[in-house]
Amino acid sequence: IRVLAVEGTAWAASAAVYDAGSEEVFIETDAYLPDSGGIHPREAAEHMHGAIPRVVETALSHARETVDGPASEPPVDAVAFSRGPGLGPCLRIVATVARALAQTLEVPLVGVNHMVAHLEIGRHTSEFNSPVCLNASGANAHLLAYRNGRYRVLGETMDTGVGNAIDKFTRHVGWSHPGGPKVEEAAARAEGEELLDLPYVVKGMDFSFSGIMTAAKEAYDGGEDVEDVCCSLQENVFAMLAEVAERALSLTGREELVLGGGVGQNARLRGMLAEMCEARGASFHAPDPRFLRDNAGMIAVLGAKMYAAGDTLEIADSRVDPDFRPDQVPVTWREAPEP
Ligand code: ATP
Repeated sequence: IRVLAVEGTAWAASAAVYDAGSEEVFIETDAYLPDSGGIHPREAAEHMHGAIPRVVETALSHARETVDGPASEPPVDAVAFSRGPGLGPCLRIVATVARALAQTLEVPLVGVNHMVAHLEIGRHTSEFNSPVCLNASGANAHLLAYRNGRYRVLGETMDTGVGNAIDKFTRHVGWSHPGGPKVEEAAARAEGEELLDLPYVVKGMDFSFSGIMTAAKEAYDGGEDVEDVCCSLQENVFAMLAEVAERALSLTGREELVLGGGVGQNARLRGMLAEMCEARGASFHAPDPRFLRDNAGMIAVLGAKMYAAGDTLEIADSRVDPDFRPDQVPVTWREAPEP
């Protein structure tokens, strides 16, 4: 099975080709980098509009060059796209492109939930069977585990996503978007002997980042060294995620943890999670960075599994959903044959 996928929930205008036979995933991405401030929905949509034709053309050329069959046949078996969650104007552009591609190539359309793709890519690249999944992305933060036909949300942020929270702090400091990598670099240079006293908010299986962001901004305004604030911020936020991930492993009895989402590129977060898993005898897996940040590769891989399970969409039913939750998705592909 070969799938062409298009992703565009926020900043990444991305297209990919996945070949389930060779396991090759070709990804082409054009990132929106705001000149100042954070991600502006209208500017993100303008970027998507401008960048999607080129990335799709590159992926399609790759599909045509690598197809093994008569030139008269379509170079892929299906077209997959992210239906949500994400910014409505971006999602609508990507869905329009995906519908047009499916109709032109005369292949089925597959609608993929972006958050489920963030976690399924970790299951795919690890071959873990039933892991707990920590999605640490820009606009979201969830703990999920599969049970009875759905990915159940075991815990989640009660306010902003984890990456967005970090980005808000860096905007305040005057650093350009995205802030996550800059916080990671600054934290590595911290020289303070002790962590700053920032709020740590975990309630059961849920967590909150807004208080810690305000406190971090106030600490910086109060004259604390920015490196020390970044270090304390990372330690607190990631310890909250590690605590809840550990509780999820303990309560579900699962012994595997996978990480997903752009914040998963942070080495300190990966280190903390690996240490926590090792201490309790669980296995930990984080996919390669190209599969952690938003990318169409993860949409293509899950799209292939959904296609193999017959989980395709009629064009008339293919509208996008900016608030699409992972637990709204009937999981059709786990018992189906491998693509
Ligand atoms: P979602 O997937 O929820 O729609 P998103 O589209 O914003 O979120 P992702 O690509 O998953 O995107 O994540 C982007 C976020 O990852 C940004 O907030 C960015 O600051 C953060 N990030 C990137 N690299 C790092 C890093 N090294 N450390 C911490 N955060 C990082």
